Amino acid sequence: MNRRWIVQPLDAQPDGVDDNGNKSPGSQTTAVPKSVILPGTEHLPSPPLNGVSPPPPEEAPSIPFQAILSRTLDTVEDAVLHVRRIPYDLDWFLETPLSDDRERVVVLGSGWAAHALLKVADPTKLAILVVSPANHFVFTPMLASAAVGTVEYRSMTEAVRAANPMIENYFQGQAVDVDVQKKIIKVQLNDLVDEIGTPPLVQVPYDKLVVAVGCKVADNLVPGAKEFCLRLKTCDDARNLRDGIGECLEYACRPDVTSKDMVTGNGMKMAESEAERRRKERSRRVTFAIVGGGPTGVELAGELSDFLKDITRPRVGAYSILREDVRIVLLHGGKDLVPAFDPELREHALKSLQKEGVEVMLNTKVLEVGRDFIKYEPKESGIEETLDVGLTIWAAGTAPVPFINALLEKLPESARGKSGRINVDEFLRCPTGDEEIFGSILCMGDAASFADKATSILPQTAQVAGQQGAFAARLLSRGYDLTATPPLLAKNGPMMLNAWMKLRGLEKAVGFDFVNLGLLAYVGSGEALTQIQIGDVPILSYAGSISFVLWRSVYLVKQVATRNRLLVTFDWFKSKVFGRDITRL
Ligand SMILES: Cc1cc2nc3c(=O)[nH]c(=O)nc-3n(C[C@H](O)[C@H](O)[C@H](O)COP(=O)(O)OP(=O)(O)OC[C@H]3O[C@@H](n4cnc5c(N)ncnc54)[C@H](O)[C@@H]3O)c2cc1C
Repeated sequence: MNRRWIVQPLDAQPDGVDDNGNKSPGSQTTAVPKSVILPGTEHLPSPPLNGVSPPPPEEAPSIPFQAILSRTLDTVEDAVLHVRRIPYDLDWFLETPLSDDRERVVVLGSGWAAHALLKVADPTKLAILVVSPANHFVFTPMLASAAVGTVEYRSMTEAVRAANPMIENYFQGQAVDVDVQKKIIKVQLNDLVDEIGTPPLVQVPYDKLVVAVGCKVADNLVPGAKEFCLRLKTCDDARNLRDGIGECLEYACRPDVTSKDMVTGNGMKMAESEAERRRKERSRRVTFAIVGGGPTGVELAGELSDFLKDITRPRVGAYSILREDVRIVLLHGGKDLVPAFDPELREHALKSLQKEGVEVMLNTKVLEVGRDFIKYEPKESGIEETLDVGLTIWAAGTAPVPFINALLEKLPESARGKSGRINVDEFLRCPTGDEEIFGSILCMGDAASFADKATSILPQTAQVAGQQGAFAARLLSRGYDLTATPPLLAKNGPMMLNAWMKLRGLEKAVGFDFVNLGLLAYVGSGEALTQIQIGDVPILSYAGSISFVLWRSVYLVKQVATRNRLLVTFDWFKSKVFGRDITRL
């Protein structure tokens, strides 16, 4: 049977799928949540004292050596895969030796989880099709830098096709619906420039669907946020923000708000009241409000503060005339900035931003956003106040993308996870409500949460998404039978691989285990927060300029390709020596 990708008009049946959408009957189906056995719990519990059970003993945090060893061996396996890929990448084989019988894997998304999967997946075993509205991966931690021109957009992106040239294909579009029984995904292709009419809706069959669509900014929480706020989630957002900031700066330099010479067009001295009105309006135009004091809001405040300081330097700054007018206001609903960090680092973030002149409003509830204002209420006073602004950036909260809601409609109720995410088991499989198709949909990254209460609260971070993407790639490439729990290695798999898996005791797959390596955040003026840990064991908690060096080093190392490392280094050098590029193109 020819199993190459087939894109069909909507009403056609996909190749290899019968009327009921079944490919082959599976053996076992229900997602079994990971059972956590704490040391000592194998013994009977001690009898309650005075009828009150003693609190369970606290588990001392320990370095997850087993998980680290396992990751190291996985990395060796990935390296072998990459070496094996070299002849294909270098085009030494004239004819592609890839089999048509490979499992068809449709990957939705090109973000952290999808990109990690593409880098590690074995295309000689899997026929991978990527569907995403963005044809590239973006290094999200640097979006704030890109929004103020410290680095350029293209320096921190990698095209999907470049990430793994051996994938079957990439379609630029977004999944809008799915038939989980027939295993067909419906994709609305992107608009092309000059395309006449609506771009086609195509249906794509799959054996395995990998849902890595991330989440969106929750800008529907207060009236006006969606219409009047900018966001920071994609490269387009960073570009819009850079444009928006540039526009505000030029708008504040217009003659209708300047009061430098205090002289009107007819040579009369400007009235004091008019001068004051202009001063206020000029200041409003360059008042930048950021809603949300999480890592995105704080890093953006830090980067923006650096940028404004740079361009408003006395005499030499391109916008030195706005020196007294520019303002950054950070509004945050909680009592601490960056709550994921240790208390001292949160405090440092606050002090550092305040030192740089950022006005931080903690415990402040935003009520409404308009084109040029924000209505807010400090929790303490409970009195509504208004802030006049030139531009507002919404960086508070996340929400599921529309496709997740469409998918949840097709899945059983048990798939509905926290905050609109999709519940998965420890092998990233979501419940399908049907034994035959269980294991055909994997969900990961920001879009997924664990059904098991013990692990359900994994943060929405690149670290989690990346580790899950690589985990899924290995699960699929090694050929585990995902209908079984735990998934079992295929008996007829490649001899060498099976022997290696047996040696590692992995005939039965082991569930995903997140290894937390800590957190980093830039807070402006060459200072960063560093919280390094291994699993739950804290290693280092530090804030300051040494952290900044570490922050930059880690971001450089974590770039997805050597090309990106070179470009980012060059951008940093360029902006340091020549200042940030303020050209408005
Ligand atoms: C500004 C910013 C800074 C951050 N900084 C950090 C940091 O320093 N450290 C950290 O660990 N995390 C950071 N994060 C969080 C991190 O980026 C996310 O947790 C991570 O991107 C999640 O990965 P993901 O693969 O689940 O989703 P994403 O990376 O968001 O990727 C989702 C992909 O799905 C695509 N998509 C959306 N809808 C569809 C559809 N219907 N069909 C097909 N494709 C679709 C999108 O285009 C995108 O390519 C930051 C996030 C932001 C926004």
